[in-house]
Amino acid sequence: MNTTELARFWTALPKAELHVHLEGSIEPPTVVELAARHGVTLTVEEAAARYAPGDFAQFIESFIWVTSFLRGPEDYALIARRFAESMKRQNVLYAEVTLSIGIMFRRNQDPAANYAALRGAAAEVPGVHLAWIFDAVRQWGAAPAMEVARLATDLRSPDIVAYGIGGDELGLPTRDLRGVYEFVGSQGMHRLIHAGEIGGPELVREAVEMLGAERIGHGIAVMRDERTMDFLAARGIPLEVCPTSNLRTGALARQLGQASAGYDQHPLPSFYRRGLPVTLSSDDPAMFETSVSEEYAHVHRMGLTKMDMVRLAEASFQYAFLAAVEKSALLEKFHSGVAALGLV
Ligand SMILES: [Zn+2]
Repeated sequence: MNTTELARFWTALPKAELHVHLEGSIEPPTVVELAARHGVTLTVEEAAARYAPGDFAQFIESFIWVTSFLRGPEDYALIARRFAESMKRQNVLYAEVTLSIGIMFRRNQDPAANYAALRGAAAEVPGVHLAWIFDAVRQWGAAPAMEVARLATDLRSPDIVAYGIGGDELGLPTRDLRGVYEFVGSQGMHRLIHAGEIGGPELVREAVEMLGAERIGHGIAVMRDERTMDFLAARGIPLEVCPTSNLRTGALARQLGQASAGYDQHPLPSFYRRGLPVTLSSDDPAMFETSVSEEYAHVHRMGLTKMDMVRLAEASFQYAFLAAVEKSALLEKFHSGVAALGLV
């Protein structure tokens, strides 16, 4: 297959996406449109320049910058509709989408109203099943993180499948988050966290042992620590791996102690071969000029076979926070989609 045929193949492969931020999925033309709504003149080139690769601190800054144009329910509705359409185009059957509720609180917005609007707008796009993860910002502390947890449990929607924390994992010690995660667990909600992205492998272990994290966002730091890899494999805790993100934010270079790093140095193929539970995701696709389909193309070029890639795609369905009956219905769709591609 040539590159174009392969690109079509990765798009056609039925997929689930478990680690993607709604606010990181706003394409530059939509940023321009949102800015105009609020009286700010911006060109597509200026918006794209804010997404240019840099270090982790710059990435956090750009993420906060783009959310400055999300000022109310109708802005969130617009980006959610565009996101759902993008998932549909890429044959993503199911996505667990992270919402930075922490940023909404920080900006004194009404997160419940934003959520109602974005959920409604996304639901108008048929054929894509979206679920939502309420996410707090680690470096802003435990009290704002608890505010997000309380809203997630107060709303009690079956569509809100998990609570998570992102941002700067070095900005607050894990133990400070214990109370928040205990509360979330006591409410029967799934627990996620970004860890081992720029921080060390000990943060991954702490996330599991102290917070009860059921999946880890990124976790690439475990490449430096065999024991943590064995620990995750024994417990069946998957890493949500996002290769392009790790290159664009400088996270991989930082883990390797280098100035820069390439796809050929990314640990995903070795994680997979070692039997570590892993899924493949796009993280902030617009900011990183990627898509979930393109992530499949990258990982295939990194050396995994097409059959490996099919198993990797299947893992995203298996590790989804779905009720058993919904999961088997989606897996059935996945398997018939794979069969139609002539792979099994
Ligand atoms: Zn993320």
